[in-house]
Amino acid sequence: MVDYLIVGLGLAGISFCEVLEQNNKSFKVISDDSQTSSVVAGGLYNPVILKRFTLAWNAKEQLEAAMPFYKGLEQKLQVKLDYKIPILRRFANINEQNLWFEARDKASLGYFLAPKISRYDNPHIQSPFGYGEVLYTGRVDTATLLAHYRTYLQERDLLFEETFHYDALDLGNEYVEYKGIKAKKIVFATGFGMKNNPYFNYLPLNGTKGELLTIDAPALKEEKVIKSSVFIIPLGGDLYRVGATYKWKDKTNLPTQESKRELLQKLDSFLKCPYTVVDHVAGIRPTVSDRKPLVGRHPEQGNMYLLNGLGSRGVIIAPTVSKKLFDFIENDQTMDPEMDLSRFTTKHFRI
Ligand SMILES: Cc1cc2nc3c(=O)[nH]c(=O)nc-3n(C[C@H](O)[C@H](O)[C@H](O)COP(=O)(O)OP(=O)(O)OC[C@H]3O[C@@H](n4cnc5c(N)ncnc54)[C@H](O)[C@@H]3O)c2cc1C
Repeated sequence: MVDYLIVGLGLAGISFCEVLEQNNKSFKVISDDSQTSSVVAGGLYNPVILKRFTLAWNAKEQLEAAMPFYKGLEQKLQVKLDYKIPILRRFANINEQNLWFEARDKASLGYFLAPKISRYDNPHIQSPFGYGEVLYTGRVDTATLLAHYRTYLQERDLLFEETFHYDALDLGNEYVEYKGIKAKKIVFATGFGMKNNPYFNYLPLNGTKGELLTIDAPALKEEKVIKSSVFIIPLGGDLYRVGATYKWKDKTNLPTQESKRELLQKLDSFLKCPYTVVDHVAGIRPTVSDRKPLVGRHPEQGNMYLLNGLGSRGVIIAPTVSKKLFDFIENDQTMDPEMDLSRFTTKHFRI
């Protein structure tokens, strides 16, 4: 009997495994490759919403938890994951410059926004109105994290790489059983895969498809992340990730020509050097109707839990929400009502 069975090994599943290890809890993980969000993610952590110049929900607290979390993973897995890179918000006009200064005057945001307009010049990027620099930002190499974490679990016989079939789950009062694995509790961290979960698919997980390109641009020589109508994220060498799109209808993980065209059109509006597209990926962000995570206990099954709804900011949110879920289960701490899945319960359950 293990303490926990975790279904899904993306950023949410990894974060929860980490909390369990830190607290000497035993666990097994089951995961397949049906969802790609954590693998394809741009990996940026950035406390500021750069479209509207506002602070993202609880971003300061989340950043403070995320930084030591990824550092700890680097040490544990012996691999570089966290690249501290400033993000330059390219201004499209004078009005955006003014909005930047207004935002800087707010106490919560000022900490993250550089005081001066940057005239930082890359000859290949048109930027007549300059940039604002966001501080304390960076990129986590999520694909490398996933690959190494998978190996870490495999070496300890903790991972089953297969699809979880809900009809094979036996629920008891004291424990759950799945194909011979007995666990005191089960946690579903399946990202958009939650749509197939009969226990939780009543929750409003909408899912937002995103696509990203990788380009090879030898002349660009850019070391900072540029945010304009799309992000340009340096990956090292001459490679850059470009994206992402936001689509609400298509729920497949397949790259499309339509999104590629959209990304290239936006990129060409400000990038003025030759490049070639060398990769194109897609995934579904686990987004929720009210833009907050979905975390907590099933309304009727006492030993079943959900860790989901990380949306478009999984890198920064995952460590905090995992810790909150653990404290809720093991330490009787109340769940933050903004992320507690019970905010949707009364609508669907008569309890
Ligand atoms: C194009 C794109 C760009 C993004 N860029 C960023 C970014 O720059 N910064 C950022 O913070 N976030 C970004 N995100 C969002 C981020 O990727 C997500 O918030 C995060 O990865 C969600 O993690 P998760 O573990 O909840 O879900 P997932 O990554 O989807 O992981 C769920 C896992 O569960 C598995 N699973 C599902 N169903 C089953 C089943 N029945 N049986 C077994 N296994 C199952 C899946 O295969 C998968 O391995 C981006 C997303 C996309 C798509």
